[in-house]
Amino acid sequence: MVIKIEGTIFNIQRFSLHDGPGIRTTVFLKGCPLNCIWCQNPEGISPEPLLIRQQQKCIGCYSCVKQCPQGAVKKGPSGPLVNQELCGNCFLCSEFCPAGAVEKAGQTKNALELVTELLKDRLVFEESGGGVTFSGGEPLMQPEFLLEVLKLLKQEGVHTAIETCGYTSWHNLVNAAALTDLILYDLKLIDEDQSKKYTGVSSKLILSNLKKLVSLNVNLHVRMPLIKGINDDINSLEKAAASLQEMGIEKIELIPYHNFGEAKYEKIGRDYGLKGLSRYSDADLQKVRIILSKAGIMINREGELNDYSRTGSH
Ligand code: SF4
Ligand code: SF4
Repeated sequence: MVIKIEGTIFNIQRFSLHDGPGIRTTVFLKGCPLNCIWCQNPEGISPEPLLIRQQQKCIGCYSCVKQCPQGAVKKGPSGPLVNQELCGNCFLCSEFCPAGAVEKAGQTKNALELVTELLKDRLVFEESGGGVTFSGGEPLMQPEFLLEVLKLLKQEGVHTAIETCGYTSWHNLVNAAALTDLILYDLKLIDEDQSKKYTGVSSKLILSNLKKLVSLNVNLHVRMPLIKGINDDINSLEKAAASLQEMGIEKIELIPYHNFGEAKYEKIGRDYGLKGLSRYSDADLQKVRIILSKAGIMINREGELNDYSRTGSH
C-alpha cells in the first residue's frame, strides 16, 4: 500500500542522548502553537518552510539576485539584501546558492519515506536501547502524519517518544499516547498570566491534558524549562510544585535555560527576546533543586536520565 500522508520536517538529528532512553534519532516537525520567548528552535515555529540566511558563508556570487523571480534580492554593500515584502518563498535562491548561505528550513516527506530513512538507524537503536523521538515545533501540530509514522515504527518494533508542549486536543494526545512508548511532556509555564505573556497561549488546556494523561497511567515524563527571572523565584517554584502535586506528579526533570539557539534568530530575521540572559551555574541550579525538593518535588538530574520509566507520576 502506498502511504500518502505527508508532513513537513526541518531536521533529523542522529545520536541524540537527551530525548529518551539510549541513543536516539530525533525528528523535528514544523509548526508550533506556542511562541516561547526562549525558543531554541525558532525556525520550527511556522508550519511552512522558511529561508535561513548565514551572511558569513556568502561568497558574493549574486546567483540569488539573478535567480529571484520576484526581484526581491538586490546587491547590497556587503552582500545580498532581501526585501521580505517581495519574497514569495519559492526557495529558488537556496537551490542556486553555491555556498549554503541561503537554506530552506522545512521539507515535505511522506510517512513511509521518513520511516525508511529512520530504519537505517535500527542497529544503533537495538544496541543502545534507543529509538526515535519526535520533537519540533510541536509534533502534534501534524497529527495525521505523526500517528502514521508512529504506527509504522511500532509495527517495526522501534521504541518511540514524543516531545509535546501539551497544547493540542485531547483526541490527538490520547491517540498518540496509544502508539508511542514515552511522552516527554514539556510543561512550560503553569501560571496562567505568565504562560500567556511568555508563550503566547493559556496554560489551561496544557494542564488539563496533563492531568488526564496522569490518570491514564501512560509512560509519562514531565520536564520543566527553567528561565532566569521568569519562573525560578521561590514563589513561582512553590506554586509550580503545589500544582504538580495536585496532579499527582512527584518527579520532574528541569531544563535549565541556555542560549544555544540565539544565533538562529538572526538567520531567520527575528529579534531574540532574551538577549544577554546568562546560563545557569551549578550553584543556581542547586538552589532551585533545593526549593523544589523542600516543596515535595523530586528532580531528575540533567544527564542522569536513562530511567524513563514512569518518572512523571508515581
Ligand atoms: S547565491 Fe549565496 S553565495 Fe551567492 S550572493 Fe547569494 S547568498 Fe551569497
Ligand atoms: S525565496 Fe524566492 S522570492 Fe524569496 S528571495 Fe529567494 S528566490 Fe526570491
